[in-house]
Amino acid sequence: MAESTGLQARETIHAGGKWRAAVSGATREILDPADALPFAVVAEGDEKDTDLAVAAARHAFDEGPWRHTPVAERTALLRRVADLLVRDREELGLLESRDAGKTVEEGRVDVDCVADAFRYFADLVAGEAPGRVVDAGSPDIHSVVVHEPVGVCAMITPWNYPLLQASWKIAPALAAGNTFVIKPSEITPLSTVALIELLAEAGLPSGVANIVTGPGHTVGARLAEHPDVDLVSFTGGLASGTKVAQAAAPSVKKVALELGGKNPNVVFADACATDEAFDTAVDQALNAAFIHSGQVCSAGARLIVEESVRDRFVAELARRARKIRLGRGTEDGVECGPLVSEQQRAKVEAYVASALEEGAVLRTGGKRPEPSPQRPENGYFYEPTVLDHCHREMRVVREEVFGPVLTVETFRTEDEAVALANDTEYGLAGAVWTADAGRARRVAGRLRHGTVWINDFHPYLPQAEWGGFGKSGVGRELGPAGLAEYRETKHVYQNLAPRPVRWFAG
Ligand code: NAD
Repeated sequence: MAESTGLQARETIHAGGKWRAAVSGATREILDPADALPFAVVAEGDEKDTDLAVAAARHAFDEGPWRHTPVAERTALLRRVADLLVRDREELGLLESRDAGKTVEEGRVDVDCVADAFRYFADLVAGEAPGRVVDAGSPDIHSVVVHEPVGVCAMITPWNYPLLQASWKIAPALAAGNTFVIKPSEITPLSTVALIELLAEAGLPSGVANIVTGPGHTVGARLAEHPDVDLVSFTGGLASGTKVAQAAAPSVKKVALELGGKNPNVVFADACATDEAFDTAVDQALNAAFIHSGQVCSAGARLIVEESVRDRFVAELARRARKIRLGRGTEDGVECGPLVSEQQRAKVEAYVASALEEGAVLRTGGKRPEPSPQRPENGYFYEPTVLDHCHREMRVVREEVFGPVLTVETFRTEDEAVALANDTEYGLAGAVWTADAGRARRVAGRLRHGTVWINDFHPYLPQAEWGGFGKSGVGRELGPAGLAEYRETKHVYQNLAPRPVRWFAG
């Protein structure tokens, strides 16, 4: 492949401190989704490369020194990584833009969030007590509960936020003293490769951080089943996540799953009572649905709006959606990039077609935009799409589209709004918009979603847990629970005055 494009194949597999090509010699072209042209060639690893990386991570965990490194040194390293990310912000933001199709500004914001994650987990472990002393009811007993690293962690990440999703796993895993092997999405591996380089530059001992670039059905599947892996943390779609959990089961390793979402954005009429409030609610609904062309696990893809304000709300939303400037993410003034791949665009087109067949009313979008100087003809662009008069029986409402498609449903009562918002097999995130503080808290309390925003959409905090109810996943990232995922809990009970128990008389 490399020969056909003139691009030099990079050694993107890192095991035991060395960069190398795949054992098989296979490579993969990485395409810029804005023009479908290759701009990098990486190693295409398989099971053999995975085994080598796991062996390196196993050796580094068992023989040290990382897990025994004093907390002060571990946290200093995490902070150095954050500083290096800030140093390379422009370069990484650009890389993320070319790889995943997002705008460079989104790429830069991602890098800031990644640096914040490293700093947060450094602060969290730096402030911890070494263990919890338990009162065993006797002065002769010293009993303490301590936390230790899990061991070798496998991490499998998706293409929509390659660097961010990697950092939500790598930062806590390292803070807790683990070693790891990461497998980024095969279509967006470059920023994760860059992060592994930064970890080495920050002084991480060799063998602690390993990466295998390659496909899910080989590298990912081998990581999930590998007997020397102690934990697998997966972020991606429901179908692949289910396979990971099944592959991990025979070895009874720990499994964390961050899966998809079908996230409701519930708007009460009282949130639109003034022109300013109306403008805010519409603006945020637009942002909820269309940022990164809707390729966000927490995208507010289901607008559930009170019937009395539906017409005005949808008309304004469609008017503004039509004005979103689509183009190559690296161009000035572009607000939304392309979809990540031809396959992803085809999936979105199929969902829109099925919705129209099932009776949805198209308010805007529903097609590929005309090519322009900012939008090469071969890019995977798709217009922001608003589908009105949708209902729960439609596939487009039930399933995760993962594209710039917003469906509109309506309600008349608070109970109806809650029932609709909870009527999903997922449960990742959702929002409620209302001017009534009591209603806001009531509805938030009844929503079965891992994150609930009140009069806002999309913000997350590294210090607050992120994860899903239902089929949105198992476990949490970020916050103290996001660190706990990477730890074993051990109770150490010491008898200071041992005596025979005489349970047996003989
Ligand atoms: P995907 O499931 O196709 O792929 C995710 C990763 O899993 C990739 O690295 C892929 O190579 C790998 N993979 C695929 N099959 C595998 C297998 N059998 N065994 C092991 N690994 C395998 O998902 P995607 O299309 O890359 O990403 C989009 C999905 O990710 C969406 O569903 C989105 O909601 C979800 N997501 C969730 C969160 C969250 O925080 N909950 C965040 C980002 C993305």
